[in-house]
Amino acid sequence: MSNRSTSAMQFPIQKTAEEWQAHLAAQQAEPAAYAVTRQAATERPFTGRFNQHWQAGQYHCICCGAALFTSETKFDAGCGWPSFTQALPQAIAERADRSHGMVRVETLCSQCGAHLGHVFPDGPAPTGLRYCMNSAALAFTDSASDGASDSATSPNTSA
Ligand SMILES: [Zn+2]
Repeated sequence: MSNRSTSAMQFPIQKTAEEWQAHLAAQQAEPAAYAVTRQAATERPFTGRFNQHWQAGQYHCICCGAALFTSETKFDAGCGWPSFTQALPQAIAERADRSHGMVRVETLCSQCGAHLGHVFPDGPAPTGLRYCMNSAALAFTDSASDGASDSATSPNTSA
């Protein structure tokens, strides 16, 4: 019995490369989204749309829409990537990443296996964790806009 976790991880949502590319295009994902989520690339620091983004709401997986983080757990780590101290329960799968001569903990969407970023043990209290995410792997929903904003109901019909 070795404890190599080769490709033992199975995710409920499976798509082909072409399907993911088409899906991400339909989501208006950032150009880097496919390389980040499906090929474990890292976007350049200080370039992502959520690095300095402080609206109240929820962050989702750009690939499958699963909720991953809430804005209350986001903090400014100064590293150039959106950082969170805590993930939503069961949202994130972890895997040892020994690339680039380092041992890091890779984080993946537990539903579709999208590469999101890494988690480091140098975050603030109470968890002491820093989920260092790629903006390109995330989608955001504003907590204020849960109802569809339809203002198309004829406002000025008084004579
Ligand atoms: Zn996902």
